[in-house]
Amino acid sequence: MNSDHARLWHALGMGPLWRLRADAPAGAGGATPDTDRADPAELDWDGLEAAVAACTACSLCETRTQTVFGVGQRSAHWLFVGEAPGAEEDARGEPFVGQAGRLLDNMLAAAGLGRDRDGAEGVFIANVLKCRPPGNRNPEPAEVARCAPFLERQIALLRPRIIVVMGRFAAQALLATDATIASLRGRVHELRIGAEDAALRVPVVVTYHPAYLLRNLADKAKSWDDLLLARDTYAQRAPA
Ligand code: URA
Repeated sequence: MNSDHARLWHALGMGPLWRLRADAPAGAGGATPDTDRADPAELDWDGLEAAVAACTACSLCETRTQTVFGVGQRSAHWLFVGEAPGAEEDARGEPFVGQAGRLLDNMLAAAGLGRDRDGAEGVFIANVLKCRPPGNRNPEPAEVARCAPFLERQIALLRPRIIVVMGRFAAQALLATDATIASLRGRVHELRIGAEDAALRVPVVVTYHPAYLLRNLADKAKSWDDLLLARDTYAQRAPA
């Protein structure tokens, strides 16, 4: 585990159980301290969306055009998680609307899923970060720590039956690990959200980021295998 990940683990709580502590690192130049904002864990969907839109907890608020909350029906059974908005997402306020997003939509359609559907075929799409890092640079651990309670609350409200996490960065952040994507793919992880005794436990499948697949066509087949693993896992765990 490198020092960035050690700080991230510390900020998020132990292991893949997301908990932002009061001593989260302030290295991202937070515009206002966390104490000034409502606890995301207390908010409903509309309150959470408003809190994200108003967030000034890190310096990304100074360069964003707008926040990118997420898209999809709030009754969707599937959650797809990416890294952070890019330029087109920052301009449109919706995740995965660029070239990578078109590939994602095609893959979802091939799997019988879609961002405009609900229930078993419905997909909610969100990012680890709700604001675009300037120049699409990698997110800083402190930015992830400040943003983590938003994704955690989205997961708690959505209560997805399965999460598909796309790309090394999002997988490492969500699962609190620095393992390679190659070692994380091909098996089912578990994310625990909330207090240990009443934690929401959600299966997680890791796959490649669609932007990576645009540059590495040969790995599209592996990504399809990941979607099939997710579909099988969903089918096994969903109530009849
Ligand atoms: N890449 C991401 O990780 N998320 C987006 O929303 C767009 C591109």
